[in-house]
Amino acid sequence: MPRVHEYHCDQCDFEMPSGWGGMMYVEAEVCPSCGAEVHRSKDHCFACGKPTEEIDADTYTRVTCRHPMEAETVRRVLGRAPPSEEKEDRTGFNSNCVCTECLAQFGLDVESDERECRDCGSDAVYAAEELVDEACPNCGTGTFRKEWTGEMS
Ligand SMILES: [Zn+2]
Ligand SMILES: [Zn+2]
Ligand SMILES: [Zn+2]
Repeated sequence: MPRVHEYHCDQCDFEMPSGWGGMMYVEAEVCPSCGAEVHRSKDHCFACGKPTEEIDADTYTRVTCRHPMEAETVRRVLGRAPPSEEKEDRTGFNSNCVCTECLAQFGLDVESDERECRDCGSDAVYAAEELVDEACPNCGTGTFRKEWTGEMS
């Protein structure tokens, strides 16, 4: 039950999505025959019917694990009992990030992804959590704050 926070500047209207800074994700294999996400919990690809045990994927796609069904989503994608190493490798946390150059906002796994803005290519990309109590990237005079909404989720 994480606490729900709001992320915003105390001077201007700059804000980032409320919540707990991002969303967990799991990497699903992409079915080489049809391009659908592979769910190891199923015997067949739901889109083309290829048996999952015959699927040998070399591309992956990130599936957002919506709260509070994170564990469910991981089980659906990786199957019932994935080796813990595989689970470790294929799950992560997409942080809500902002480029302080152009103010574009997007999700990025700051532990494994390169910090590069999708819009302007700048490497000045920071997670909401990293900006807390720093100068606001929008107005420069306000302070970026994290405030508990009083809610749990
Ligand atoms: Zn398929
Ligand atoms: Zn940018
Ligand atoms: Zn501001």
